[in-house]
Amino acid sequence: MTHIITHVAAALLTLAAANPPAAAPPKVITTTEDLASLVREVGGDKVTVDSLAKGYQDPHFVEPKPSFILKLHDADLLVAIGRELEIGWLPPLLTQSRNAKIQPGNPGYLDASAGARILELPTGQITRAMGDVHPQGNPHYWLDPDNGRTIAKAIAAALGQIAPADRAYFEQRYADFDRRLAEAQKRWAAAMAPYKGTKVVTYHRSWPNFTDRFGLDVIGYVEPKPGIPPSPAHTVDLMSEMKRQQVKVILVEPYFDLKTPEAIARDVGGRVLVLSPSVGGVKTATDYIALFDYNINLLTSTFKQVLGR
Ligand SMILES: [Zn+2]
Repeated sequence: MTHIITHVAAALLTLAAANPPAAAPPKVITTTEDLASLVREVGGDKVTVDSLAKGYQDPHFVEPKPSFILKLHDADLLVAIGRELEIGWLPPLLTQSRNAKIQPGNPGYLDASAGARILELPTGQITRAMGDVHPQGNPHYWLDPDNGRTIAKAIAAALGQIAPADRAYFEQRYADFDRRLAEAQKRWAAAMAPYKGTKVVTYHRSWPNFTDRFGLDVIGYVEPKPGIPPSPAHTVDLMSEMKRQQVKVILVEPYFDLKTPEAIARDVGGRVLVLSPSVGGVKTATDYIALFDYNINLLTSTFKQVLGR
């Protein structure tokens, strides 16, 4: 018996030497579903990926869970939006994860905003009176598809560093995503072209990159200041400004209360549109490209009805 076992063990050893076990796929954790979608595009089946925030949650205010610490502890790569979007919840989790690899400054931490086009970079001094102004610019930059491309490219480079054997695979996946995104961008630009310059109101400052890219003009916000809930005085001002400029459409993120936007819409004879700022914010926004498909379909069909063209 011992003899047989020795033989089996020896055979297994030979087998292991001939076929060294493939390294486990890198574990990627992202702060948002948009980043997870881009990791999936580039990483394919050579990585595992999980997002901490869900697409229907306000990414500024995510309730930290103990399970987040375990996920971060095991991660090989953390991809974050940065620009202080996650400042309210991520830093303590990172400390508690006791994972040196993914701490900011190390190769396992990717700040997705590094090469992106960032809007609303504040000039001058920032005070609490200005609301939740992000000193490093508007953190909702992923809502410009060109920035999505930049993020995907940075993810491909980061994955190539962590798993160099699969570098060519990640590069090929990125090239394929780049091609599909470029095709989709042509479609979106054509759909939005008739509505260039259309004035809208948004709830939070989530959309500057989106509206800039697709030619919409944001004339005001339901929030009096970023991160500050609607106030009666500001709502009255906003309604009269919307009437003066004949603005009919209010864009709202899925995690805000619709009461004030709907009251405003009734007053000005307009419409509230719940757009999804993130993958997973609505059921059909299943990936990064589907997110824009959903938002642009909803916008163009509403503009058609409201503007009659
Ligand atoms: Zn914000």
